[in-house]
Amino acid sequence: MIDYIKSSDLYLEVLDKAEQKGYSLNLFSYSESSKKKLDKYGFQKVNFKERKIEIGIDKLVEHDKGAYFHELLHAKLFLEDYPQILRYPKIDLDGTIDYYLSEIGNISQHALIYPIMSELECNHSELDDRYLKQVLENTNLTYKGLGKFFRALELLEGSLRNKNKIEEFKDEILKKQPEEYKLFEKIEKIILAINDPLTMRNAIIKLIDVLEQYLKLSSEKDFFLKYLTRVPLISNNIILEDKADNFFYIEYFNEFADIFIMSKIDNHCCGFIDGSRTSKSDIQKMLNNYTVKQLKERLNI
Ligand SMILES: [Zn+2]
Repeated sequence: MIDYIKSSDLYLEVLDKAEQKGYSLNLFSYSESSKKKLDKYGFQKVNFKERKIEIGIDKLVEHDKGAYFHELLHAKLFLEDYPQILRYPKIDLDGTIDYYLSEIGNISQHALIYPIMSELECNHSELDDRYLKQVLENTNLTYKGLGKFFRALELLEGSLRNKNKIEEFKDEILKKQPEEYKLFEKIEKIILAINDPLTMRNAIIKLIDVLEQYLKLSSEKDFFLKYLTRVPLISNNIILEDKADNFFYIEYFNEFADIFIMSKIDNHCCGFIDGSRTSKSDIQKMLNNYTVKQLKERLNI
């Protein structure tokens, strides 16, 4: 199958985009399925430092063209500058939070990936059927706190894969898990508004806010995810020539030497700056004097 995939238009397109950006593309299959969760039969990982994109497909599904196309489309979106959620490197986020952030990033891309797969007349219906079966079985479970957010994400993923199936069981789910179902409808609206990198950034930020609310409900603590996760700003030609301080402000905390570049549009972090190398006043001067384009180039945000 790998040879067949490597001769497909999609693979060649992704390879070409990767080469243009100086990334290598490595496609392989692996056998660890028993350890993996039900819905994880493949992955796409970007190693920014080594400029490598790795796509792994579980041997259990290596006969499935859809499994490869799915991961290739994740790589394609990355290469087309769709935003990723980057973590503040000096704090290890709790594993659960890290997992939810990855899911938010994934599901935002799935909003585009599944429709493209339908257009290419390529699916992974075997995987979808298995996934949907589990999602529907989980209607009998009781979720609390953050679990309700998990359930809403699961319903959303199910709906992106097969909307009719979730609709079919709507009444039952609504009766047993009303809060989860309403949350699913809310985040579905956010996700379905995605059609380009800018709308994806907006959706990711809104979902991180919802996650923060549920984390707070569960633990009565703030997690400050709007500072600890950065989503690079998506610029367009209009704002590039505008003054940087129309769009950004800085934030800093006594515990960290670093400076957080925040977007005025949505109050979410766009960049982490090493405060031991650049002072707050230098950054403030840049904001006052630079255009957005100059600031992006200088600070790599
Ligand atoms: Zn995916």
